[in-house]
Amino acid sequence: MPIHISTEIPSGNACAITVTRDAAMPVVALTADPHGGPEALWFCFRIESEGYAGPLRWELRHMGNLLGGPAPETVRPVMRAGAGAWERLPPGRRRDEPDGQWTGLWTLELAGEPVEIAFCYPYGPEEVAALAREGWRADVIGVSQAGRPLTRLCNAYGAPGDARPGVYTLARQHSGETPGSWVLDGFLRRMAEAGDRAPLVWSVPLANLDGVIQGDYGKDNYPYDLNRAWGAAPMRHEILAIQHDLHRWRERCRPLLCLDFHAPGGDETAGVYAFLPAVSADALLMRRTLEWGQSFSAALTEEYVAEPVSRFATYPSRWDTPTITDFCAHRLGIPALTFETPYAEIRGTVLTPARYRDIGGRLAEGVLRALGDAAASGGG
Ligand SMILES: [Zn+2]
Repeated sequence: MPIHISTEIPSGNACAITVTRDAAMPVVALTADPHGGPEALWFCFRIESEGYAGPLRWELRHMGNLLGGPAPETVRPVMRAGAGAWERLPPGRRRDEPDGQWTGLWTLELAGEPVEIAFCYPYGPEEVAALAREGWRADVIGVSQAGRPLTRLCNAYGAPGDARPGVYTLARQHSGETPGSWVLDGFLRRMAEAGDRAPLVWSVPLANLDGVIQGDYGKDNYPYDLNRAWGAAPMRHEILAIQHDLHRWRERCRPLLCLDFHAPGGDETAGVYAFLPAVSADALLMRRTLEWGQSFSAALTEEYVAEPVSRFATYPSRWDTPTITDFCAHRLGIPALTFETPYAEIRGTVLTPARYRDIGGRLAEGVLRALGDAAASGGG
């Protein structure tokens, strides 16, 4: 029976594709495509089986080259049949290859219709449009590197000189890190529910829009990682546009906080934590940033948090130029945190869009509680 693999779908990504069969069933082998960058992890593809119903073995090759070198037992890709809902697959089985590599194996039951498989729940322009309908204004603040319109959501425009507290958020500087989007989605939904109690919230939900649409993993991608392009002279056009937007937002509120949402390496399952700006001589700013970390740790509770919640990025980077947290803290004087939410599970709890949104909702609750406490103590 003819089995065909397609990556011509939104956020499509797979390469080194072979379709064979053993005695029992068809076998599809592939790996994540680095799309010209140094790192790979994101994949998303469609299996067209021309009416074949029965078992199919899918093999994820070269797992040691994916960021984090995840074990198949901790990887929980998602699958949907036809236009159905995405659902987690069970953990993969591990096959150790004779040369020391390892492969993840899944047996899929095809029912005669095409299926799509992705590393994690996709999140793209369609999901942003659904979120915007929940009471967010959507405006274009510029374009991506490839000229695509870049959307920013807000709950109000405010006006220069306003004293309303303000929070600026974004996700998908690394375009394959979809858990960051689902967490931001939950954060914004909770803020919408808070109505006038909410701060002025501006948000760029798909910062590396080209990467999202093209299916790039986008971590350290060329020509320049978005989250290393935050120098005073930005190295990506998206960051130039977002910096201009941050300046506009800052003039229209009392800036409280910038939050950036990511996902870690593919092997991490310990919980949610945040990277802080590089240490600076501004002790007050560092203290305020650490206090936000404590507030968020309390809001996340033991269910989700990985202590220590506040961390400094010490992993090797291909660029030593500033990140968003460095830019916000050291150039704008605003506390900033980059949240990392795992892809598949937190200590055995399997993560779903509802779980990710719950995490984002709790982080929003942490902000609202801090604002309420400040107001109660007269510092509002
Ligand atoms: Zn990231």
